[in-house]
Amino acid sequence: YAAKRKLSGALQYDAAFDSSSAQTLSLLTELRHAVEHHELRLYLQPKVPLHGQPGLAAEALVRWQHPQRGLVPPMQFIPFAEQTGFVRQLTLWMFEEVARLLADPRTQGLPLRVSVNLSTRDLLDPELSHRLAEILVRHGVAASAFCLEITESAIMDDPQRAEAMLNRLSEQGFKLSIDDFGTGYSSLAYLKRLPVDELKIDKSFVMGMETGEDDAMIVRSTIDLAHNLGLTVVAEGVETAAIQDRLRALACDEAQGYHIARPLPVDDFLAWQARQV
Ligand code: C2E
Ligand code: MG
Ligand code: MG
Ligand code: MG
Repeated sequence: YAAKRKLSGALQYDAAFDSSSAQTLSLLTELRHAVEHHELRLYLQPKVPLHGQPGLAAEALVRWQHPQRGLVPPMQFIPFAEQTGFVRQLTLWMFEEVARLLADPRTQGLPLRVSVNLSTRDLLDPELSHRLAEILVRHGVAASAFCLEITESAIMDDPQRAEAMLNRLSEQGFKLSIDDFGTGYSSLAYLKRLPVDELKIDKSFVMGMETGEDDAMIVRSTIDLAHNLGLTVVAEGVETAAIQDRLRALACDEAQGYHIARPLPVDDFLAWQARQV
């Protein structure tokens, strides 16, 4: 019993991952339990336009309301879920929660678009597009109300398969975004071929803009690059009014960050959006 208790406390992702270890099995069991017992929570972080009409968009971010450990942030279980493949179930859970929200009477008539994060495992899963389609039909929502965020590194894991999957998702009507842009190694020539609509500048560059001229230069170049490729560009990690103003001056299209709002539970997000004009 003492051993078991110790194991369930060891929630922290371990880089020395062993898929057959008792610790891994225990965490996997806990994650399955979390889905079945409704311990996962959908949080939404607003994403706002920096020019023109106020739009209504948000990124869906998962949290784990653990009975003993409290609210567990995704970085403590997403990497593990990716390594075990469990993340595919998590993605479907997330997608279904967002579909339910988009079908909810409280969001009817709102021009709401929600971004959902996909992992490498999702991109390489031949079943993904069918499963997403099935959820859309069941809730009666359109693919165009979703944006799917994929990191550069997830794409570069297997560029050919990723490209085929992105083409399929795009034909289905999903908007596509490259997340954490600037942290991976995607070639620009390659990016140009992908059916993406948006680039999201990684928060490390955005947060460094005020103090580091290198970061400011990277942000400026990425905005120009995105526009030259005909893409919308979003800055994540906008923590101050000064950075938001600077991004606006650089013609960045949208911003997301603590200065605008933190990731919020659904009810708080709806209350937040009702307070905007
Ligand atoms: P991400 O997709 O790049 O999401 C943006 C992260 O930046 C979120 O962290 C968000 O809370 C944080 N953030 C936003 N604005 C600010 C800011 O102004 N300052 C700072 N310091 N941080 C800010 P979060 O929610 O902890 O998620 C971390 C990562 O976990 C996400 O990065 C994403 O890679 C992953 N993740 C979260 N939810 C899901 C999910 O449902 N599925 C998958 N596959 N991954 C997820
Ligand atoms: Mg994201
Ligand atoms: Mg990101
Ligand atoms: Mg990120």
